[in-house]
Amino acid sequence: MILYNTLGQKKMEFKTHTPGKVNMYTCGPTVYHYAHIGNLRTYIMEDVLDKFLRYEGYDVNRVMNITDVGHLASDADTGEDKMLKGAKREKKTVLEIADFYTKAFFEDAAKLNIRTPDVVMPATRCIPEFINMVTVLLEKGYAYEAGGNVYFDTSKLDKYYVFGNQTEEDLAVGVRDSVEEDEFKRNKTDFVLWFTKSKFDDQELKWESPWGLGYPGWHIECSAISIKHGGEYLDLHCGGVDNAFPHHTNEIAQSEAFLGHEWCPHWFHVLHLLDSTGKMSKSKGEFLTVSLLESKGYDPLVYRMFCLQSHYRKPLTFTFESLDNAVVAYNKLVARIAALDTEGEADADAAKEYQQKFKDALGNDLNTSLGLTCLYDVLKAPVSDATKLMLIEDFEKVLSLGLLEAAEKIRAEKNEGVSDDEAAEIEALIAERQKARAEKDWATADRIRDELKARNIVLEDTPQGIKWKKA
Ligand code: AMP
Ligand code: ZN
Repeated sequence: MILYNTLGQKKMEFKTHTPGKVNMYTCGPTVYHYAHIGNLRTYIMEDVLDKFLRYEGYDVNRVMNITDVGHLASDADTGEDKMLKGAKREKKTVLEIADFYTKAFFEDAAKLNIRTPDVVMPATRCIPEFINMVTVLLEKGYAYEAGGNVYFDTSKLDKYYVFGNQTEEDLAVGVRDSVEEDEFKRNKTDFVLWFTKSKFDDQELKWESPWGLGYPGWHIECSAISIKHGGEYLDLHCGGVDNAFPHHTNEIAQSEAFLGHEWCPHWFHVLHLLDSTGKMSKSKGEFLTVSLLESKGYDPLVYRMFCLQSHYRKPLTFTFESLDNAVVAYNKLVARIAALDTEGEADADAAKEYQQKFKDALGNDLNTSLGLTCLYDVLKAPVSDATKLMLIEDFEKVLSLGLLEAAEKIRAEKNEGVSDDEAAEIEALIAERQKARAEKDWATADRIRDELKARNIVLEDTPQGIKWKKA
């Protein structure tokens, strides 16, 4: 697979440390509020990547953290802990907030057909691992204590700006924007590994540590959790593009200092979803959620399709007009699939050419819009309907748009006009035909089949038995 790598800033062949095995890490949500559809764009594209790697035959171990402590309002270690902010807003405890919004996140993810990662780990469950990592960084001379906090010393690194796209100037802007500058930092790029002197005495969750009662910095979470559950050699690290700096830059700094070797060679970043005012963000107060889309009558999977229509490395502007266009495209696609004849044998050989095109599309830097085009090509292809259905089912392992389920619903709705008496008669005929077949009475079986056909009834063999529908 060819995949753009932010480290090196070019497309390159995706390689793994152990052949056939991918250790993949995804920065998880900060659970102080609902995920907005911008966050979910990132998780949808990561889900497609995860599923495509599996489609290609890799054994993928995907790890994701849940940030339930330590993520401050500004990524530059200033401002209030976001979790505390959520707790105050809703007059609940931090743990109640974390529990509620973690569940809400996975409910939204399920509605978007996002697979739950193999390991999901809340930061608050890994405190000993964070303390161990900070201890080792202090021992190795990469960290220092100042003003009660423990900081990573970025001056100890040969190269701090690993992604090559940040400058001192960019950082200065971030620092100026922030609430206050931290006087204890030796270098302005240094970052907090462990807070004890919180600027907020009311920080709710604190743990004993060799440096006093405190709590971890946000960046250390992802390093420690990914090393614990993804091993010392990570293959692929993912997140939204805003995570690249300072979060991922700091993750690399501390992980490599801790491990003493290179850590993760491939970095995948999804560009932002924008609204009319710019980047969609939780701190703006008003933002779009999956529930809001549903309340307006949109199927969440249409939003997934909307995301797949664009490349993950381009910013995507959300408008309801463009979502309406996705609704039209989705419904047309489903209607065409519902019209396919579900009887007959698929031709695996004839399917290969189309599977190859699909692999080429996704394998070229996850070109999902071309992947969708492959679906249309299949519908137009000179192959049997059964082969088309087989191919759609195959591509759906990656695209996960719920197309076959939606088509099945349309077929079932068609049968709604059939009266109960007629349905009972059809069921009886099918049972009689089954009996005739079991008794090798082919003449009777054929006669019944013809009778059903004359009544416009199509039979389908499924693992659950024979199903019927009006043609
Ligand atoms: P958070 O819950 O704020 O920690 O963010 C969760 C994920 O969503 C991170 O990977 C962010 O980089 C990503 N993200 C945040 N805002 C956006 C946006 N507007 N569009 C796409 N991804 C985003
Ligand atoms: Zn992270």
